[in-house]
Amino acid sequence: MINRRQFSQAIAGMLAASGADYAQPAAPDPWAGASIVDCHHHLRPSPEANIVHLDGSGISNAVALARGNAADQMQALETKYSGRFLAWFASADITRPDAAEVLTKAVKSGAVGLGEIKFHVEAAGPELRRMYQLAADLGIPILVHFQEVPHTPAEGVFSTGFKNFEAMLKTYPKTRFIGHADAFWANVSAGDANETAYPTGPIKRGGVTDKLLSDYPNLFGDLAANSGNNALSRDPDFTADFLKRHQDKLIFGSDCACTDGKGGGVSQAGNPTASRMAGKCVARETLALLQKTVSPTAFRKMTWENAHRLYKLKT
Ligand SMILES: [Zn+2]
Ligand SMILES: [Zn+2]
Repeated sequence: MINRRQFSQAIAGMLAASGADYAQPAAPDPWAGASIVDCHHHLRPSPEANIVHLDGSGISNAVALARGNAADQMQALETKYSGRFLAWFASADITRPDAAEVLTKAVKSGAVGLGEIKFHVEAAGPELRRMYQLAADLGIPILVHFQEVPHTPAEGVFSTGFKNFEAMLKTYPKTRFIGHADAFWANVSAGDANETAYPTGPIKRGGVTDKLLSDYPNLFGDLAANSGNNALSRDPDFTADFLKRHQDKLIFGSDCACTDGKGGGVSQAGNPTASRMAGKCVARETLALLQKTVSPTAFRKMTWENAHRLYKLKT
């Protein structure tokens, strides 16, 4: 009887003797080494924690989503980890009267977008309308979290009424909108009933999101979070076609809160309904999905070029 170690050695010997390439373990991150920008990276408390996630998931760069007063924090990151953060977005409480002032100041101090904008207001309500106009006036995009179903009893909902968002796209043609989160992605399928945060099963063609992405040059999609990954995992045949058709308008992001870029800690913090991502890094899951689904050209667009064009990033 041989022990485990002898068995491993025997197998290794056999594989070496066969000279087969497949004896090599598969590269864990086939995208590592390529330039990838995570455009949905929430700024973490310490500079190191940001870099640990990027390095752990094999991602070269990020655009940080931060508070309106993050200019100094971003400067500190740039000093310590030069070139890793390509830019930052600013958010502020849009229900407060000074929101426009805070965000304008952030843009003057270097922010390239507004976001993540996630508040308990209607998507067509006065608070968000002011922000859509502000984004147009400042010439920067706005990243909005759309959610119609609470994840916990106390959570509430955000930017509600996505099904009627066409009116906003028409009213604010100069605003570049980036759609994100549950309702944006649930509505990839037609007839979504706003009943579950992350619907499963085959996608019915003609969904609101698909139609709006096709019809409005001022709408873009953020692939981040369980919402994005879930929608792209429901129906692989639909997904391949969807990604191909919208390859110029979709932007990779993770929205992952795992600690190490490998699924440690909690990847979808405060969201028990996203348990399919437990123990996984959302960045890795979505990059792997994109890589196996789209052409290298489309992959490059979604993980690098689209963000550079839309956010006017310099590298
Ligand atoms: Zn969000
Ligand atoms: Zn992660």
